[in-house]
Amino acid sequence: FQVVEGEKLRKKLHNTILELKGNIRVFCRVRPLLPDENTGTDTVVSFPTSTEALGRDIELSQSGQKYNFTFDKVFDQEASQRDVFVEISQLVQSALDGYKVCIFAYGQTGSGKTYTMMGRPDAPDLKGLIPRSLEQIFQTSQSLKDQGWKYTMQASILEIYNETIRDLLSYARKENGASSSKQYTIKHDANGNTHVSDLTIKDVCSADEISSLLQQAAQSRSVGRTQMNEQSSRSHFVFTLRISGKNENTEQQVQGVLNLIDLAGSERLSRSGAMGDRLKETQAINKSLSSLSDVIFALGGKKEEHIPFRNSKLTYLLQPCLGGDSKTLMFVNISPDQSSTSESLCSLRFAARVNACEIGIPRRQT
Ligand code: ADP
Repeated sequence: FQVVEGEKLRKKLHNTILELKGNIRVFCRVRPLLPDENTGTDTVVSFPTSTEALGRDIELSQSGQKYNFTFDKVFDQEASQRDVFVEISQLVQSALDGYKVCIFAYGQTGSGKTYTMMGRPDAPDLKGLIPRSLEQIFQTSQSLKDQGWKYTMQASILEIYNETIRDLLSYARKENGASSSKQYTIKHDANGNTHVSDLTIKDVCSADEISSLLQQAAQSRSVGRTQMNEQSSRSHFVFTLRISGKNENTEQQVQGVLNLIDLAGSERLSRSGAMGDRLKETQAINKSLSSLSDVIFALGGKKEEHIPFRNSKLTYLLQPCLGGDSKTLMFVNISPDQSSTSESLCSLRFAARVNACEIGIPRRQT
């Protein structure tokens, strides 16, 4: 009885938070200056302390102008990987409670997206939120065994490059990157699950198992990169963990999904100086990032409107995990380097619009 009551209470709390806040949150993270960078004579980024929203405000200075933004949370250069994870651990936990969760890292190339998501897997203190989240998921699922919960988990890892899906768990096995020519098609079933044809899906029982899959994916990514003469920052990296839980005492069942996404660099065409294939690449990235923002803004719109999920592979793949009662967190990563100021301003403006969205109402989906 106590378990059921506890479960009910936890769900109720989640729903209350949803009603109050909408289910999209935005965290901003500013990385430290790198050794070869400088801010010039002006400070580019500062964190106002006099306002009510301490720890939530950021001020960007450009050509004497100051721009202020407020997010759900702002992490300064001093924030450790652990500090960041503490703020998202509840959200990660909700995937075990049966929620569909998406955590994105958005920002220009070099702003700290991969550091935030993956970190440096070889240094325990510098591990990013993907390894930390998975460790927590497995630890908690073990401790919930005492309350009768049994979980099964499945992982897949893919990247989307130029609107083409690559399976990062099969790529390394193929010679000459043969799997890159495969056409993966995305379908959704009536239960709101996404199926990608031929995608490798691995049953996983421990964080160690997932960490070797992540290593395999990193290797596949670099093989693909060399073959295609491209950079990893040009593709979206999508890690998905499907979680099925059943409580043997109460017969309660849950189906959660945790998507952790390192987005391609958001820099604009003018900055990337792109030509030829690189131009095509940048256009594909811009298209899919703007499709993602179109979907988020449409979901957060006040009136019933068409949600353009089908406009990009990324949004179509994530369709069941965006909107409805799913939960989304977007990190906007910022570089404090002076040469990045206009890109940082674009990222902050975009993130501020996302932060203003309240997605919580199921909409008509197309
Ligand atoms: P992106 O994925 O956005 O292209 P990276 O994560 O590769 O950017 O970060 C660019 C560089 O900055 C890397 O050398 C990375 O180690 C470093 N870096 C990023 N964020 C931090 C941070 N919070 N603390 C220390 N170094 C960082």
